[in-house]
Amino acid sequence: MFYNSTRNSEVKVTSAEAITQGISVDGGLFVPESIPELSLDEIKAVGDMKYADRAAYVFSKYLTDFTDAEIHYCTDNAYSTKNFESESIAELAHLFDGTYMLELWHGPTCAFKDMALQILPYFLTTSAKKINLDKKIVILVATSGDTGKAALEGFKDVEGTSILVFYPEDGVSPMQKRQMKTQEGSNVGVCAIKGNFDDCQNGVKAIFTDEDVKAQLAENGIVFSSANSINWGRLVPQIVYYVSAYAELVKDGEIALGDKINIVVPTGNFGNILAAYYAKHMGVPVNKLICASNINNVLTDFINTGVYDRNRQFYATVSPSMDILISSNLERLLYLMTGRDDAIIREWFGKLSAEGRYEVSADVKAKLNEEFCAGFCDDEQTKSTIHAIYEKYGYTCDTHTAVAVKVYNDYREATGDTTKTVIASTASPYKFSAAVLEALEGKSSDIDEYAKVDRIAELSKLDIPAALADLKNKPERFNDVIDKADQKQYVLRTLGI
Ligand SMILES: *Cc1c(COP(=O)(O)O)cnc(C)c1O
Repeated sequence: MFYNSTRNSEVKVTSAEAITQGISVDGGLFVPESIPELSLDEIKAVGDMKYADRAAYVFSKYLTDFTDAEIHYCTDNAYSTKNFESESIAELAHLFDGTYMLELWHGPTCAFKDMALQILPYFLTTSAKKINLDKKIVILVATSGDTGKAALEGFKDVEGTSILVFYPEDGVSPMQKRQMKTQEGSNVGVCAIKGNFDDCQNGVKAIFTDEDVKAQLAENGIVFSSANSINWGRLVPQIVYYVSAYAELVKDGEIALGDKINIVVPTGNFGNILAAYYAKHMGVPVNKLICASNINNVLTDFINTGVYDRNRQFYATVSPSMDILISSNLERLLYLMTGRDDAIIREWFGKLSAEGRYEVSADVKAKLNEEFCAGFCDDEQTKSTIHAIYEKYGYTCDTHTAVAVKVYNDYREATGDTTKTVIASTASPYKFSAAVLEALEGKSSDIDEYAKVDRIAELSKLDIPAALADLKNKPERFNDVIDKADQKQYVLRTLGI
């Protein structure tokens, strides 16, 4: 299996090269040259494996330059109860008649990004070895909260790597800040920037492309890499849990082999739902892919009209990980839907960066409508959904998952479609404790973060994840706060250059 760039179909690299490079030199994203197929019998057989082996099975179709031993080294290290609080890794909870919650948040940082960021470091170091990249890999991350912590946990103490995370001093939740300041590991660094997320992000991007920095890194045997969701190494682990969930439903007798399911995904950067699309085209029987957004509903409009327009007001919501106006992974979907037309992708994404807007062809719009449905809801609806689900089923979900539940309920009401449905549950309710508690109790309260966590535990009867329970007692290790202008010097100094 080779990988092409969405902006140049002539580019042809191995998976090890795609994963170490992250993004193609032409600015395009790496895409496998074909989608490997799984027969129904293969999918059924996956249900009899433990999660790490399910993952290895799917990876063997995509990472064909990896040996079996290399793939198992990655999966066994990433998907074990050492890192996940659930034996099944991705837990399938039966919510109500024919609806299942795919809980992707039993990892070390309590959000679904762990599913990919626990394995990415192993993919990256294995890939580097395979292409004889005899250098130390330094991961630079700008984060608005979830990605930074998940990347820190993934890369901590992984040999041959180090990681440095920048976050906006006043732009993350108190819990997220504490999670990062108390990070353990001998190869990690965390620093706050006096500025907003864009300042952090722009600083990191500028350092990546700085010629002087590049020269100094080369002299010191170091390369930079990125852990963000445009890397194929972050997308491929997400395909696994959809195959896994389907196999599980068959095994549990909830569906018959071959029955179709719907999949609902609370969406931001379009990575998670794109993985569901890949699973479908590998052979998982799927009826509709339902794309759920918060009030930053650029994707709802796109799927319903074929016009992508980021020129609109940006809102900060109670589901902050979906507060995104540019969904990078959409580029991969459109590349596939145009029959791998790199010229048209260059045109549309050129327009997106120049004018903030593009419109797809009638043919692509028809394909979008055939496979996807889309909807959105606001913060009030998100909170009332958390409340309603709790009252009705005694199940507590986080704000992002609640957006998906609300959009699914609307879909079911509008269409009468009763196909069994899997909803991706992307974060532990404890992670967004303020909004979740407000929703459960129907009023806001001014007790501190830890008291809120305890109160949610009383109401939900869910165990507090060990990683969050420990937080109170952990010493703070990282208290640096710097001006954005000093980011480059900070990186060089931290690397000992
Ligand atoms: C990142 C994130 C999302 C959005 O996922 P995408 O792959 O970016 O679409 C949804 N929910 C939570 C909790 C997240 O952290």
